[in-house]
Amino acid sequence: MTTTSETLGALKASIDRMPDPAGRTEAAALEAELATVHGVRHAIAVSSGTAALHTALIACDIGPGDEVLLPAATVIMTVAAVTAARARPVFVDAADDGRGMDLADVAAKTTGRTRAILPVHLAGRTDGLIDVAAYAHSADLYLVEDACQAQGSSACGRAAGTVGTIGCFSLKDGKIISCGEGGYLLTNDDALAAAYRTHWLTPAPGAPAASRLGMNYRLAEPLAALARHNLKGLDRALARRREQALRLYDLVGDTPGLTVHAPAPEDAPNGYSALWRVDLDRPRDFSARLAEAGVANSVGTYRLRAAHQHPACQDLGPADCPRAAQAVDRMLAVAFQPQTTEADLHRLAETIRREAKTWGESR
Ligand SMILES: *Cc1c(COP(=O)(O)O)cnc(C)c1O
Repeated sequence: MTTTSETLGALKASIDRMPDPAGRTEAAALEAELATVHGVRHAIAVSSGTAALHTALIACDIGPGDEVLLPAATVIMTVAAVTAARARPVFVDAADDGRGMDLADVAAKTTGRTRAILPVHLAGRTDGLIDVAAYAHSADLYLVEDACQAQGSSACGRAAGTVGTIGCFSLKDGKIISCGEGGYLLTNDDALAAAYRTHWLTPAPGAPAASRLGMNYRLAEPLAALARHNLKGLDRALARRREQALRLYDLVGDTPGLTVHAPAPEDAPNGYSALWRVDLDRPRDFSARLAEAGVANSVGTYRLRAAHQHPACQDLGPADCPRAAQAVDRMLAVAFQPQTTEADLHRLAETIRREAKTWGESR
């Protein structure tokens, strides 16, 4: 595991190496390493996952009058990126089994103004991604993946974030690889990669000046150095998390009211969190109770709810996505970190079992 002193050592070394304040040596090296790790032509480092999403949409020239289809089962940052591009977010319901986007709803909500589909791989899951990608291709729409939680996941053998036109990632703490705050985009499209750069970088000598206004979304050099250091541990972190997720499922075992959200056989999630469907009364309250009892989880701790029901999205108008609302309310995504110990996993499992039993008996 990466220790704090190792991390600080990497940070200090990078600061010592920084002779030219205008130089982008760490960020450029990080981009090259990310492109290699993900097997794509271009990686562009930015200051956050939200910045990556916003930049991706703008690079695709998506703006006022355009519509972007995205799952209602997502975090608020995905929606914010679309509205920041001044496009209209159109929420898509979840599939019948609550997993991934409902293709029929995607098709029904595609209009002449639709420019992109933005699937979100919540909890590192890529349910239905390949089918959505095929639809986007047939309908001539961009596919921009919100892969912020899906570093290292794959769908049908294809790495999350490399299936679409552009993949967006976060390097915020708590994600698979982190440098405190940061993000990056991946693409194989040379023209799009060039478009990102004009939005936040002074052009290289001899290159054309930026043709549109953009934001400062640079990743700070010391953070790029940290990200490079932590990226070296990616394979180890993934192996560890996958093992931890399986261990937690094993320890929780058959607990009435909880069903393991097993991945489709063709998908290989990254172990970002262990995932169950809650079939107990008042599932949101149950998740909040778990959070109180020390089991950090998306709904209970971070108040995740379907985006169309989020107070911040009420100005976007009503959306009819009942299955997504129910799927999020019933989603128990338990967070852990590579440094979470076997004893911690036992404690988490014991709490989950005990609280589920008590909850089931008190109905
Ligand atoms: C973390 C996250 C984001 C935003 O990333 P930031 O780096 O916090 O801006 C977007 N989408 C999903 C699914 C995330 O988990």
